[in-house]
Amino acid sequence: MRDLTVDFHTEDGVVHAVDGLSFDVERGTTLGVVGESGSGKSVTNLAVLGLHDPQTSRVSGRIVFQGRDLLGAPRSTMERLRGNEIAMIFQDPLTSLSPYHTVGAQIAEVYRRHRGASRSAAWERAVEMLDRVGIPQPRTRAREFPHQFSGGMRQRATIAMALVCDPALLIADEPTTALDVTVQAQILDLLRDLQEQTGSAIILITHDLGVVASTAHHVLVMYAGRAIERGTVREVLHDPRHPYTWGLLGSMPSLRRPVTEELVPVRGTPPSLINVPPGCPFHPRCDFAPLAGPRVCSGERPELSPPRGHSDACYLTSKQKQEVRP
Ligand code: SF4
Ligand code: MG
Repeated sequence: MRDLTVDFHTEDGVVHAVDGLSFDVERGTTLGVVGESGSGKSVTNLAVLGLHDPQTSRVSGRIVFQGRDLLGAPRSTMERLRGNEIAMIFQDPLTSLSPYHTVGAQIAEVYRRHRGASRSAAWERAVEMLDRVGIPQPRTRAREFPHQFSGGMRQRATIAMALVCDPALLIADEPTTALDVTVQAQILDLLRDLQEQTGSAIILITHDLGVVASTAHHVLVMYAGRAIERGTVREVLHDPRHPYTWGLLGSMPSLRRPVTEELVPVRGTPPSLINVPPGCPFHPRCDFAPLAGPRVCSGERPELSPPRGHSDACYLTSKQKQEVRP
């Protein structure tokens, strides 16, 4: 992704949901995208999928997938890619599963549509996928409806459906937020195992750095639709450089135990994306702005630097950060 910008028109004004976002995701790796509600995480991925409404939104930049720019790709191309080369898992499995069809039939249908498989071959593939995601007695369970599955089982079923065509890219938007802690851990383990087998790239959207710590290779921290820190998971979790990331890390009960509720990591509330603060968008909430000089922080927007590797967007010097980091 290069310089992605997404604006929406609403009755209240223009929402600047994403502003100048760039990142890469390599095959076989997971990028964790972290931020509070309203930080533009989900919007970014709807744009990747071509699911934004062209009537009310303006999207610019480049989203290159396997050498092809998806922004501006014809609708038919996006329809062919979605569910096939690029698949998604949402927080609520019932977003992807219809209550009126059996779980097996829904998975088989995705395979038939994209692969042109026969009914029986698609059914066998559905049973195989349910088995791979750890559904016991998959042949029997394939004939059941989503309401007959527990929450964790339903999320396993949506993972089976997302992976049925061996996608090169899987986008998982808060895939474990609705699940209890034990089931969360199982689902994250499952995603890791499946990634090892298939080599898919995964974009994992979450508000939970614990989930990132246990699952991702790289992490991108977002605030108000901007990337404010990025690096490997080790770099960002062990040597966080941006004051907002310090706040996020400070709010974590434990790196090993994912939280089930959205915590407020820093005093104050995330800014309205209609009136994003000038300069560093975090400055109204940042305790360290006086150090950099308040006029500096509310002046020009800080860019991510250095351009490669572990980078962050903050005016404090490395020395200042070392002195004040909690
Ligand atoms: Fe805080 Fe200023 Fe750094 Fe923004 S640029 S995080 S306001 S010190
Ligand atoms: Mg979201």
